[in-house]
Amino acid sequence: MKYVSITIRVVIAAIILFYAYSCLFSPRITSPAFLKKYSGPEITYFQETAFERKKSIIKWEDKIRITLMGSYSVQDSLEAVRIVEEVAPLINVEIELLPGNAKEGNLRIYLLKSEAEDEAAVSKNDLAKAMAKTEYRFAMLSNRIIGAKIFVYHFAGSKYRTLRHEFCHALGLSGHSKQMTKQQRLLGPQLFDSIEESEAWEAKKEQTFPEMDKRSIQLLYERELPLGLKNKDFYKRF
Ligand SMILES: [Zn+2]
Repeated sequence: MKYVSITIRVVIAAIILFYAYSCLFSPRITSPAFLKKYSGPEITYFQETAFERKKSIIKWEDKIRITLMGSYSVQDSLEAVRIVEEVAPLINVEIELLPGNAKEGNLRIYLLKSEAEDEAAVSKNDLAKAMAKTEYRFAMLSNRIIGAKIFVYHFAGSKYRTLRHEFCHALGLSGHSKQMTKQQRLLGPQLFDSIEESEAWEAKKEQTFPEMDKRSIQLLYERELPLGLKNKDFYKRF
């Protein structure tokens, strides 16, 4: 009984110490001037998309090596080239596209082509929830992303838009915005003036990252925005 109570005390002391350590040494923004480059709506969208799921900043610090996995079309690889070209100027880490199925790939993209491929890649539960999924791998006890896998299921309506949506997640914008807006955004619901406008958006073949998502990615990769910054410490700035 005595040993049990000593063990409990040690555990409680360890928890208190860990909590005190994480409060004292949690990352902070030391010079917030860089945030002036961003508008109010851009900051709000960033807050929602960066902190909705994870409560602290996650991002890459090592070179991102993208590879398409499984069987993929010429169009798929052209789209991957475009994505790299669009994202490279926004982030402060290197990014490159490797040949398909490269072992060194740390951001692996699976554009699944059939029900059988979907079922082999993810669980039935995942397939029932969404059109795509992103999984992360983190450095030990860290918010540093060291690997990610994007799965776009075969029934995803707009494959390359879905891929870009998941790509935002894979870079570290893990959440979504709940605000309805007319402005184009990948990580939030969008308002349309008419059904025709909505159908034209859905059918649009040419895809790029909308401006709001680009700005959110850019803010996430600002050097002054530290890895592991907590939601509450970001909000303190405003
Ligand atoms: Zn999503």
